[in-house]
Amino acid sequence: MPTPFPGVSEGPGGWAARRYTRSVRFVLGLVVGLVFGAISMFFLMQSRSARSAVADVEVAEPPTTAPIDPAQLEAEESIAAEPAVRSTPALNEPANLDAGAVIIPVAGARREDLRPMFDELRGSRRHRAIDIGAPRGTPVLAAIDGSVGKLFLSRPGGITIYQYDPGRTWIYYYAHLDAYAPGLVEGQQLRRGDVIGYVGSTGNAPPGAPHLHFSIEKLAEPGKWWKSEPVDPYPILKERGVTIARGASGE
Ligand SMILES: [Zn+2]
Repeated sequence: MPTPFPGVSEGPGGWAARRYTRSVRFVLGLVVGLVFGAISMFFLMQSRSARSAVADVEVAEPPTTAPIDPAQLEAEESIAAEPAVRSTPALNEPANLDAGAVIIPVAGARREDLRPMFDELRGSRRHRAIDIGAPRGTPVLAAIDGSVGKLFLSRPGGITIYQYDPGRTWIYYYAHLDAYAPGLVEGQQLRRGDVIGYVGSTGNAPPGAPHLHFSIEKLAEPGKWWKSEPVDPYPILKERGVTIARGASGE
């Protein structure tokens, strides 16, 4: 084995030099690892925050509880990164989405409480989702059968869930949750109506107006939860019109 310090003799001095060399290599390795890790994390967060910003830009909720401070909303809007410009949204329900299989994903929410807000402007972006207001802690229900694609904490969306449909060609996105249902894990198979979390205001939702931000999105590629194009969930939920009683615990 080549000696790291040619000319350094074996013996107490040589031993100390090798120890010194190992320490230096260890520290250098640590520093290089940390730098690469930080760089990777930075780019990962960049891409994810851009993705999230598209899906969940938040502002106003119907004035059911406390009034919302406009200055606060302005600040929240500015948190989100600029999203990529998207093509014209598909406003009509796609042929291969079974609207009859989808339920209103908030316990106790009634179809008459829903209102269209897909194309509402939220700051400089369109909302492309529906907000369903409910008291904090109200159970959030799986809108459809399918597996948990991703449990993700995002700055605008807060505590979020991405759920696949059975064919993994659509994603159902739930944001601003107060918490996940106990034991919920990625890959878990859900049945429609299962409690998956609780209504809250995490992320950039106004604290005084807890609600579920919900979107239905067509995946660009099956199984890839992070790349999708939303469709308007309002007519889909309105058509189904199912209300699960508040306090329901799923199937
Ligand atoms: Zn929303």
